[in-house]
Amino acid sequence: MQVEEIYLNLRDKLGDVMPEGEILLKAEVAAEIQKLKVERDAVILGHNYMEPALFHSVPDFQGDSLELSRRAAETDKSVIVFCGVRFMAETAKILNPSKTVLLPTEKGGCSLAESITAADVRALRAAYPGVPIVTYINTYADVKAECDICCTSSNAVAVVESLKSDTVIFLPDEYLARNVARETGLHVIVPSVLPKPGAPRPGTDVEHVMVAWKGRCEVHELFTTEDIDSVRKQFPDVMILAHPECSPEVVAKADFSGSTTAMIKAVEKSNAKRYLLLTECSMGDNIVAANPEKEMLRLCSHRCPHMHEITLEQTRDSLRYMRWVIDVPEEIRVRALKSVERMLAVGPKID
Ligand code: SF4
Repeated sequence: MQVEEIYLNLRDKLGDVMPEGEILLKAEVAAEIQKLKVERDAVILGHNYMEPALFHSVPDFQGDSLELSRRAAETDKSVIVFCGVRFMAETAKILNPSKTVLLPTEKGGCSLAESITAADVRALRAAYPGVPIVTYINTYADVKAECDICCTSSNAVAVVESLKSDTVIFLPDEYLARNVARETGLHVIVPSVLPKPGAPRPGTDVEHVMVAWKGRCEVHELFTTEDIDSVRKQFPDVMILAHPECSPEVVAKADFSGSTTAMIKAVEKSNAKRYLLLTECSMGDNIVAANPEKEMLRLCSHRCPHMHEITLEQTRDSLRYMRWVIDVPEEIRVRALKSVERMLAVGPKID
């Protein structure tokens, strides 16, 4: 695609929020990326939290972690550039060991992925032998390797239900665990210390138990029920959508809760007068750009610092210098792959 075409597309989508000169500069970088993409035989995957100029110009596929995992599994390109954070790029590598996977930042962390280690999972398995362990996709490969099955916020309920077990260990997002437990009828326990091997079965006084972990998303934990009350007072006709990484109290007060892609679909289908998204702010900007007729309340100030590291310039340099290459040791990869493949088998399928 030429600069002119990209510029017109970006101006159409972002003209209300970005100065013309900046749009032109972004279009020039995006055109360089399109050229490099062909030279390197690369595919670009863009998470819903990417900055709008990137999100609306270079990704071949956009979506949440589940959709992008599926796209990564299907690609025939030699190089995958993952515009997201490290655990996402690792998942692409787990699914595509023979391909080069690039992350456009050297860091790309995540407070959830960093909240748990493989040793923590081994300790939980020793304490509760035979109890299935589900891990959210927001974990590193060595943690996935110790678990039985992965899930994303799109399919967490379906994954837990597929296990048909009255006790489940769900790691590492405490809030997602509590939100899933509410939907699946499980009673949640969050151990304050790691249990020792041979510890008594948790929650012996209740029938269905979920053992959770103290991980939190540093962005979604910032939303409060007071935010919701104050917005509803000013805009009684607002539709409020909350990501399930928000606290259960926030989710209970929202009108809808679901993954980033489920939120996008809900906004597109709804005829509400206006919307408030309780999630990473770039996503609200991206939805507005794609649906200019929808009124989005722009009260968001919670940008994920890790997603924010990825820019068009970083993406161009990633392809130009073939950096930063994501590797997963083979012994860990094959075990992590089992957890990811079990999740992909549960669904749901994407269009
Ligand atoms: S938004 Fe939260 S869960 Fe997503 S990458 Fe940032 S810190 Fe991690």
